[in-house]
Amino acid sequence: MDLGTVDDILLPGSRADLPPGRADTAVLAGGTWLFSEKQDHLATLVDVTALGWEPLTVTETGLEIAATCTIETLARYTSPWPATALFPRCAAALLASFKIWKTATVGGNIALALPAGAMISLTAALDGVGQVWSGDGPDHDYRIAIADLITGPHANALRPGDVLRSIDIPLHALQSRTAMRKLALSPLGRSAALVIGRVDDGGEFVLTVSASTVRPFVLRFPGLPTADELDDALAATIGPQHWYDDPHGAPDWRRHISCTAAQQIREELS
Ligand SMILES: Cc1cc2nc3c(=O)[nH]c(=O)nc-3n(C[C@H](O)[C@H](O)[C@H](O)COP(=O)(O)OP(=O)(O)OC[C@H]3O[C@@H](n4cnc5c(N)ncnc54)[C@H](O)[C@@H]3O)c2cc1C
Repeated sequence: MDLGTVDDILLPGSRADLPPGRADTAVLAGGTWLFSEKQDHLATLVDVTALGWEPLTVTETGLEIAATCTIETLARYTSPWPATALFPRCAAALLASFKIWKTATVGGNIALALPAGAMISLTAALDGVGQVWSGDGPDHDYRIAIADLITGPHANALRPGDVLRSIDIPLHALQSRTAMRKLALSPLGRSAALVIGRVDDGGEFVLTVSASTVRPFVLRFPGLPTADELDDALAATIGPQHWYDDPHGAPDWRRHISCTAAQQIREELS
């Protein structure tokens, strides 16, 4: 839709062209959400896709995913790392039209901070760390775990002017064995629960519960827990107030399907 209050779209050629953070200015990535509803508080959009970042870069420590990497590009990525099998599965977990698949970005999905944000689930489950360009200048840049970046439904830790530059996925997570369950009220519906488990080379078991909760929850165990240990940890970590309530599922149902999925994943990875 047209955004009637927006009268300027900036196309930065480099970081120096980014404007200072203001309440009426927003980062534009794929625009699939920004242009899907009214944004009457906005006058300026800053199109970060103009910065021309390489979508995917293999580094000495793992894989760097540029915030502007599209969901399609990530889904099509092939590598010998076993955990990258999650990329197309998480991309498919999005309620994605052709437009979203082709245009929406990993960073946009994360920054939007919807509970059903499958790129949040994916990167939180793989110990992803966001590299953030601070609106206060390069001296204030910071790194933050994706699990900590998301603070609630539609809420994140970014400050005005901050730009999510990239997400680093470490080697130990890329090399891990994984299992995943996505559940929804209808076969292709928006995720009501998205649960991902991982076993690292060292035997650590990491379980990430998302979509059913107001933010992602990452539970860590030194080895595979027993069924009772897993149930106890889920109950102790995710309180009644953390189960999300919207038309895509009631909180008690979401708790039930998430805990059942967690046990299935524990068995699959055992
Ligand atoms: C029909 C439809 C179905 C959808 N289904 C889902 C779904 O199932 N799950 C889901 O999670 N979402 C869904 N969405 C919402 C949304 O389109 C996606 O989450 C999408 O991934 C957003 O990515 P984008 O690149 O288009 O972001 P944009 O629309 O460009 O931006 C989204 C938000 O993130 C901010 N932002 C973008 N990039 C950055 C950055 N690098 N640094 C800082 N801030 C940034 C923007 O300022 C804006 O606030 C749906 C949308 C539609 C229209």
